[in-house]
Amino acid sequence: MNPVPSPTQVRHALGRAADLLRSARHAVALTGAGLSTPSGIPDFRSAGTGLWERVDPMAVASLTSFRYDPQAFFGFLRPLASQILLAVPNAAHRALARLERSGRLKGVITQNIDQLHQKAGSRQVLEVHGNVRRATCIECYREVEAGPYLDQLVGDGAVPHCPDCGSVLKPNVILFGEQLPRAPLEAARAWCAASDVLLVAGSSLEVTPVSRLPQIALEAGARLIIVNREPTYLDPRADAVLHEDLVEVLPELATEVLGD
Ligand code: ZN
Repeated sequence: MNPVPSPTQVRHALGRAADLLRSARHAVALTGAGLSTPSGIPDFRSAGTGLWERVDPMAVASLTSFRYDPQAFFGFLRPLASQILLAVPNAAHRALARLERSGRLKGVITQNIDQLHQKAGSRQVLEVHGNVRRATCIECYREVEAGPYLDQLVGDGAVPHCPDCGSVLKPNVILFGEQLPRAPLEAARAWCAASDVLLVAGSSLEVTPVSRLPQIALEAGARLIIVNREPTYLDPRADAVLHEDLVEVLPELATEVLGD
């Protein structure tokens, strides 16, 4: 375990992060599950905790298992979908939206599928792990609005079927073993290559290829700020590291940057 930083060390790191964001011309944020857990959305990669005690997300939420047993996948998705539909953005989401509105942040690259950044007011959001807004038929590739199907799934557990061919509809979220959508990932790489500051928030940088994005930024000469409860493999290369509560730290950071 890392030693607990003193309040002075935290202040110091916060000040350094604020300085970097104030002087940045192209700052980008990269966010992960840690941003949404305070909004009540479980980190579904954390098998064996809480909601997922009885199922292994890796087993049911993989592309292979989806094809063999969509019922099991939707059984897994049902409580998560219910939480996503009810979730509201927290102070950390709002802080990033404020930074974007003020022009201090180009936008957010997120691993989250819950749309809480958009609900908080962020406009430039790259969803590299997909989202629950839309769903695609696994047979004929017809794409539909997912909302009504999710409502029905939450309501009675019904597996969604394609209105055209009757095959199963797969939400546009990236499952384990599935390729990431090319367009947002390419855009995320371009943002990182053009960035001069990258703010990583709530991601432990353990899932590739997203975990490689900060390296693209570093190679382009960007400075790195990491706000995450747990240490990450890039902490030693970051200019400011805060192992603090995001919901407290990001609003403080935004206030310090914007001086309001
Ligand atoms: Zn179809």
